[in-house]
Amino acid sequence: MDRFKKILEERKAKLENELASFAKKDEKVKGDYDTQFPDFGTAQSSDEEAFEVAAYDSALPVEYALELRLADINKALEKIKNGTYGQCENCAGEMDPRRLEAMPEARLCLKCRKGK
Ligand SMILES: [Zn+2]
Repeated sequence: MDRFKKILEERKAKLENELASFAKKDEKVKGDYDTQFPDFGTAQSSDEEAFEVAAYDSALPVEYALELRLADINKALEKIKNGTYGQCENCAGEMDPRRLEAMPEARLCLKCRKGK
C-alpha cells in the first residue's frame, strides 16, 4: 500500500508541475487550475496574436485532461487514507493488483470499466 501511495504522490507532483508550467493555480478552488490567457499587449502583429489564441485553445483540453487525472490521483490518495484503496467504485469488488500496478489511480475494476 505504501508503494502505491509513493507512486501516486510522485505522479501528483509531476502533474502539478505540468499544470503549473502553463496554468496558474486557482488558490480559491482546491485542485483547480486556470489557463492563463496570453497578454495581448505584447503581440507585435495580428499573426502573433492568432498564434497566442491558438496556443490558448489547444492548452485548454490538455489542462482539463490533466486536471481530471489529478482529481483521480487525489481521490486514490484519499482512499488509501481511509482504507478503501483497491476497491472498485462501482461494484466494490477488489481490483486486480496488476491493474493498480499499471494505473494506480484507477477507480473502476476492468469488468466495470468495460461495461461502461
Ligand atoms: Zn467493478
